Amino acid sequence: MSNATSETGEASSSMEQRCVDLVWEKKHDQGCHECEVIGGSSEAEESDQAWTKCTKNPGHYKFLPASKFALKHLDRGFRCTMVFNSIKAISDLTVRLRVTYTSLNRPNGYAFAKYKGSHILHLGSGWVYRVRLGEGPCPCRDCTISSASSTQWYRIYIFTACHVVYNSEEAQHTMVDFFYDDETFRKTGKMSTIWGSEVVVKDEDKDYSLLSCAIHSNDLFMKLKEARQNLSLRELVRRALRNSQSLPKPAVVIVSHPHGQAKQITVGRLVRMKFDAEPREQVSDKCLVYTTDTCPGSSGAPVIVIGSRTMFSGFVSHSGCKQVEKVNYSGEIVVSKLETS
Ligand SMILES: [Zn+2]
Ligand SMILES: [Zn+2]
Repeated sequence: MSNATSETGEASSSMEQRCVDLVWEKKHDQGCHECEVIGGSSEAEESDQAWTKCTKNPGHYKFLPASKFALKHLDRGFRCTMVFNSIKAISDLTVRLRVTYTSLNRPNGYAFAKYKGSHILHLGSGWVYRVRLGEGPCPCRDCTISSASSTQWYRIYIFTACHVVYNSEEAQHTMVDFFYDDETFRKTGKMSTIWGSEVVVKDEDKDYSLLSCAIHSNDLFMKLKEARQNLSLRELVRRALRNSQSLPKPAVVIVSHPHGQAKQITVGRLVRMKFDAEPREQVSDKCLVYTTDTCPGSSGAPVIVIGSRTMFSGFVSHSGCKQVEKVNYSGEIVVSKLETS
């Protein structure tokens, strides 16, 4: 090997090493939050490696692929078609989020603040909050750069954690993957990917953000609309309460994309509803603590509590992990309806 070739080889391997280091450093610049961070080579391969080498839940024995989730996986007390169908609907509404840019506006000390302005990919989860017919010119990437904007389009609102998608700048650099239920969905085109448009509302302290995106596909719109209609949380609570007498604690179900992998479902128990007991504070204003397994990539995922009337009144998404106690926790429950326009 000539000197020049050898030097080029050394330079490229040192760049690769620097890239690996940056990914590792960004991954550890998020406190207790659970985004996955990958970069450098093939996204799918790195996601596979992160899954295989996971140290939080080696083997992922309690993770069930969403496409294989069945009635038998529910506790006996909750084992009915209605509860199963509601979880299936939430699963259909769950999305993978791939954020390709970290905004310069993330405040110092906030998750990933040291990587402001960088294009190191982080991944999280989210779920469809609302679907509606679009009005006016379509704001999607294709229509924005085209002279003929589509007149028929639909607006989809995605509920996620604020530390996953911080603002509109990041939303425009976020790929939303619908129906990544298993590998075949990705390989056969059943998974749909759309770029985000903007963050319409967010709360850093409660750790949520509402991201909007525009789609043209009537088929995708109808599938999401149907899943929203199948989601009868009030009925879920009523039935669950009737059946929950024998259960010591309410169940907590999470649907997410751990390590950026295809959708997985985990079931665990509610530990408590707030960190620091403040007797005068409303339970519904606080976050949930649970034993349900989560991994990096689960941040922003829907958290579903079965067996308690009060807790279904708001939207809530997974936020992070308390390593000392070996439990996981959500952002604060959003009780009021979010203004989307
Ligand atoms: Zn894991
Ligand atoms: Zn468009």
